[in-house]
Amino acid sequence: MAFKINTKGKSLFLILSTITLILMMVVTTLLWWFISPRLHEISIILAGLSLTALRIFFFILALGTILVLLISYTETNLLVARFAIRAYIKIIYPVTLLLGRSLGISKEKIRESFVSVNNSFINAIKKQFDPSGLLILLPHCLQHIDCDIRITTDVTKCKRCGKCDIAKLCEISKKYKIKMAIATGGTLARKIIVDNRPKFIIAVACDRDLVEGLREVFPIPVYGVLNLRPEGPCVNTRVLTEKIESALSALIKT
Ligand code: SF4
Repeated sequence: MAFKINTKGKSLFLILSTITLILMMVVTTLLWWFISPRLHEISIILAGLSLTALRIFFFILALGTILVLLISYTETNLLVARFAIRAYIKIIYPVTLLLGRSLGISKEKIRESFVSVNNSFINAIKKQFDPSGLLILLPHCLQHIDCDIRITTDVTKCKRCGKCDIAKLCEISKKYKIKMAIATGGTLARKIIVDNRPKFIIAVACDRDLVEGLREVFPIPVYGVLNLRPEGPCVNTRVLTEKIESALSALIKT
């Protein structure tokens, strides 16, 4: 079964990041243009080397952008693109966020769009996994605020009363035999990942935590699912559990 995530909204980040890359090229060219007479005075070889370095830098940026756009829109698995995606996630994201903010676009919108771009990379993977290689990582705010069961240490302690989505998620993890864990913060999330060594993660979180997590765990592929916040951030959040179930049914090797 083909695994296809809806990646609506990715264009915002892709357009912003392309503008960011063009601006980076313009700024570095101007910089070189200003300092090149001085470099020529010092040494012709130094001036030549700096020009070559600039050309290589431009080539990498242009190639990276083309690959990222190609993967995002065609959702084709290009092995050569690993480096481009790494650069994109690690370097381009913070600069693009700055540009977006200076244009008056909210951080939330930019992050949500970045998650969609990430998910289009996930669509391109087209691979299936053993259930033991999958991990569902959830935020603590999914648990109902009135529930005092300590599910953070062991999510299976949930009594499945149905007041929050943890009940349904427990059923899903049992049905597909997938490990599921709740992370109360970045440190615990890192520990869970180190302990379990997943090959693929389905992570539910708000836009901020999701983007931080995606950037941190790369190259492990992460399907990012944004939580819903009907009562505001960090309290009684919800998730569309059918998104997780449909992903699992397509991702698991049969
Ligand atoms: S479904 Fe589980 S975690 Fe949620 S409130 Fe009920 S017992 Fe607590």
